[in-house]
Amino acid sequence: MTDTLLSAALAALAADAEMQRDFAALCDFGGRRAGTPGEAAAINFARARLAAIDAAATVEQVAYAGWRCSVAELAIADGMQLACNPLLGSASTAPAGLSAEVVDLGRGAPQDFARHAREIAGRCVLVRHEYPFSAVHIHRRRKYGWAMEHGAAAFIIANPLPDAGPLAGSSGRGGGVGIPAVATDFESAARLALKGSGLARVHLRVAGEDYAAQTGVVLLDLPGLSNERIALSAHLDGHDLAESALDNATGVAVVLAVARAFAPLLAKCRRGLRVCLFSAEEWALAGSREYLDRLPASARAAIALNINLDTVGGDAHLTALTSEFPRLETFVRETAAAAGMAVATYAPLMGNSDHYNFARHGIPALRLVAGFDRPDCNIKHILTRGDTRDKLAPGEMENAARLTAALLAHALTAGEDDMAGLKQK
Ligand SMILES: [Zn+2]
Repeated sequence: MTDTLLSAALAALAADAEMQRDFAALCDFGGRRAGTPGEAAAINFARARLAAIDAAATVEQVAYAGWRCSVAELAIADGMQLACNPLLGSASTAPAGLSAEVVDLGRGAPQDFARHAREIAGRCVLVRHEYPFSAVHIHRRRKYGWAMEHGAAAFIIANPLPDAGPLAGSSGRGGGVGIPAVATDFESAARLALKGSGLARVHLRVAGEDYAAQTGVVLLDLPGLSNERIALSAHLDGHDLAESALDNATGVAVVLAVARAFAPLLAKCRRGLRVCLFSAEEWALAGSREYLDRLPASARAAIALNINLDTVGGDAHLTALTSEFPRLETFVRETAAAAGMAVATYAPLMGNSDHYNFARHGIPALRLVAGFDRPDCNIKHILTRGDTRDKLAPGEMENAARLTAALLAHALTAGEDDMAGLKQK
């Protein structure tokens, strides 16, 4: 059954001429930051694309802690302006801004905070961004949290790559308490790090506004023979600096193609398929959190597996992050091997995309990601002005679509015991 299903799906994918067009259309909407017209257009587009597969496509509204910013300025005390992009949800400074010295913590690892613990209070903490997909990465929001705990006046995160502009990202504040948080570029950070006669002093001004925001989850539910579902997900939203092409127009375009390929084949499958295209992922996973928290427990229990695609282009190597479900790791390895496809696995639970909110509810969940532990690949451009469509190489999305199809075909048809076993920790 699995082999027949997979052959039919792979044949449909090979004949699909729309995946690259969908990718380009999503990039045309720009960065698709939640709360912008580009994001709204992407949600409408995704609904129309799913409605072309089946009229049951819907958009469900979810709430998140919205935020908009009118001013974000960073300057050295002598008046020289530095690159400055506010992190989503940054706390505001006083209207006149704040003036403070900068303590450069280098990478911003726990030992860096410990070594400088007594120098942080009342100052701006400067740390470096890290390539996000690796076993040793320390997330920006953890560094931000440590800066707050030490009483920092503000948080500055720098792009470690020269000539690449500042970064985008979320502060994770989510409408709660926080400190002003901005990103800067490599060259500006080099100026701040120049100590010589002492610490650099900066003037920082951020004027933002919290508001109760709503966005959509674009859904298509395609039943199989039972009430069980495999949830196939990706996030539509992104950041302002570029096209959010790799992160995550790639994942959305592949999900749409895989859904098209499987839709005519599901009636005979043991399980059905639920496509979930989330927004506000870049806001600390707010869209999927609200969707899953609100889903009735019986509907959550019926989701046998979540396959989440986030940044599946930009490198030829794919890794499944299997969220501490040990049998899921085996499932992925065996399924890929049987299909003659390559995939690496990484077991620890990573809170870096929407699969996390499925896993948090006990649903076996994986994120498929390209470029894991390959910091020199094109994925280094995500969250910067470099995340544009030219960073995708031919064949990368097609490769991800085939692997997704193999995992999905197995999950749709596997025996009850095999799938129930995936939930075991
Ligand atoms: Zn992403």
